[in-house]
Amino acid sequence: MIVRHDDICCPLCSCKDSTLFFKDKKRTYHRCVSCRLVFVPKRFWIAIEEERATYDLHENDANDRGYRQFLSRLSIPLLERLDKQQSGLDFGCGPGPTLSILLEEEGHSVDLYDPFYFNNSSVFNKKYDFICATEVVEHLHDPNREFTCLFNMLKRGGWLGITTKLVIDEACFRRWHYIRDMTHICFYCHDTFEYLSRRFNAAIDFVASDVILFNKQ
Ligand SMILES: [Zn+2]
Repeated sequence: MIVRHDDICCPLCSCKDSTLFFKDKKRTYHRCVSCRLVFVPKRFWIAIEEERATYDLHENDANDRGYRQFLSRLSIPLLERLDKQQSGLDFGCGPGPTLSILLEEEGHSVDLYDPFYFNNSSVFNKKYDFICATEVVEHLHDPNREFTCLFNMLKRGGWLGITTKLVIDEACFRRWHYIRDMTHICFYCHDTFEYLSRRFNAAIDFVASDVILFNKQ
């Protein structure tokens, strides 16, 4: 059933029409009828201190081979598309930046930004050849503002690389470990990324089930 909410609008496209997609013991999940984003209304968000404490538990380490392998699923297809010695940004890099190291090992320079660990707002005044956001977009409080900002920071012809797990259907969603993490509040599907592609005039390439590359036109 489509419901028009005056107090809940889609945080990505601002549409006020959504369906109740799923409900569990802790939260409700709405699906925008326009961009198909599944989102958790603000009243269910955890406090910012609690969010930070969850990220502090992420033991991401640049020497961890498993973590490097995980990130290589984005870095390898991205590196195939980059010219030499490009400048980039690791957006939402977390407490132990690692993707930047993989890319710097190949001759690129990479700035770091993270609202909790590398709160360096000077990055927002720069333009980049590439931006990476690995396991970031599911945490965004204001994806409308953040995606606008990311695409504005990209040069024409630049690449935006994203990793996030995609929504398949309601049956998969209810069993999904991804929704148990209370810091995950936005869940995307193919249609949502197609919407972003049209809105920001960027070609899209789904290089793996959870790795997406945009090329700004
Ligand atoms: Zn929407």
